Amino acid sequence: MEVIPDPSTVHFHLPGDLSVLVHREYNDFVKELINKFPHEKEGILKFYGICWKIFNSLNSLELKSLEEPLYLFGQFFKKPLECLTLAYYLPQNAGDIARKFIKDQQLLSFIDAECFIVSTVNALQTPMINASMVLCDRHFGGINYPVGGVGGIAVSLANGLVEKGSEIRYRANVTNVILEHGKAVGVRLSNGKEFFAKTVISNATRWDTFGKLVKIEEFPEEEKNFQKNYVKAPSFLSIHLGVKASVLPAGTDCHHFLLEDDWSNLENPYGSIFLSIPTVLDPSLAPEGHHILHIFTTAGIEDWEGLPRKDYEQKKELVANEIIRRLEKKLFPGLKDSIVLKEVGSPKTHRRFLARNDGTYGPMPRGKPKGLLAMPFNTTSIDGLYCVGDSCFPGQGVIAVAFSGVMCAHRVAADIDIEQRSPILDTGLLGVLRWFRTLA
Ligand SMILES: Cc1cc2nc3c(=O)[nH]c(=O)nc-3n(C[C@H](O)[C@H](O)[C@H](O)COP(=O)(O)OP(=O)(O)OC[C@H]3O[C@@H](n4cnc5c(N)ncnc54)[C@H](O)[C@@H]3O)c2cc1C
Repeated sequence: MEVIPDPSTVHFHLPGDLSVLVHREYNDFVKELINKFPHEKEGILKFYGICWKIFNSLNSLELKSLEEPLYLFGQFFKKPLECLTLAYYLPQNAGDIARKFIKDQQLLSFIDAECFIVSTVNALQTPMINASMVLCDRHFGGINYPVGGVGGIAVSLANGLVEKGSEIRYRANVTNVILEHGKAVGVRLSNGKEFFAKTVISNATRWDTFGKLVKIEEFPEEEKNFQKNYVKAPSFLSIHLGVKASVLPAGTDCHHFLLEDDWSNLENPYGSIFLSIPTVLDPSLAPEGHHILHIFTTAGIEDWEGLPRKDYEQKKELVANEIIRRLEKKLFPGLKDSIVLKEVGSPKTHRRFLARNDGTYGPMPRGKPKGLLAMPFNTTSIDGLYCVGDSCFPGQGVIAVAFSGVMCAHRVAADIDIEQRSPILDTGLLGVLRWFRTLA
């Protein structure tokens, strides 16, 4: 796939006129951050240094299922130090580690914003392993955009699956996981068609999988535990704009994060604004002389439900115009008048088109989590049913869900005897992992 390297990952525009550009090169990024906070040089190097230690440990392992004991013990013998490093940081959060080395409140708030764009929660609630994955991966190899738009990634993945002999059914809405004597044996679609298999893997959120697709009387303990520890993160209000190119100053970066005056608005609905301008990297995505802006901000479904059609449309217009006004004031004077196309999506749009319960971004810890300890892996308490995606370890974001997919594939391969397995060790390890989750 032909790609375009992004020279920066995000340009932060924060309270107190703090502006930080996250450069592709790690050294350029820390240099810029140290320039803004020279008195915290040591703390900055230590915090991001630990992120690298975790990232390098993860990177040194052959990533497979953490629920498969033969692989796990094998990795432990090959890379004991790296495994112990990961085990040590597994129950810890980024905010606690940042506070060990950094005292400046504004810098700690910046680290909150760094975590928020990954997890929609502040650093104290973001597991250190998640934070490290994202804060380092953006420099390790950098971010690269497929020419012609990010849709190219999905197309390539789909082509790869078909080449390997898979069949993909589009517009196939699963309404039920079919159970036989408590075992998952297939799925039923909304058109009534049924498909049977040795294994069923749900990529729907756990709220959808266990709240809608699996029809059982008794909610499994594991899922009760998950819902005790995690709530649904809010959804988003999304605005897609086509604008005249002249409104963007020369050298505008592709990605921006905006929080104007008050740090306490970071996690509030409509508090902070995310913006991507893909045409900065690939002008072919828009007609000549134009740019595409994708703007989004967190929003809860409860704000949008039960409105008559007219009020709903008016509300979308009102909220979108306010977000555009804020961007106009802070970044792009004349933005409103430069618009040639505008599409607004609410949390209801997210719910409908992404098939996600309440349009949620994913799981968000109910309180202060013990790192990633409470996150369920891929197996479920229903025989033959596995879950994958952002409500499984290690959580939200493309890197995390890709990892969860690899983990799940390995565990399933072991369970259907394509990979080596030991039933006795399996029972032991899965029991221990379940017990660990009850501690979180
Ligand atoms: C606006 C926005 C911006 C983001 N930006 C970034 C970013 O910059 N970097 C990053 O790493 N992450 C980002 N994320 C997060 C990332 O997109 C998600 O964490 C990730 O896509 C979750 O993957 P998933 O496979 O768990 O779920 P999904 O991507 O939601 O995939 C689930 C799939 O299951 C299908 N499905 C669900 N229910 C059914 C059913 N009943 N029958 C049939 N099919 C069903 C859905 O159609 C969907 O295709 C962003 C998310 C949003 C919303």
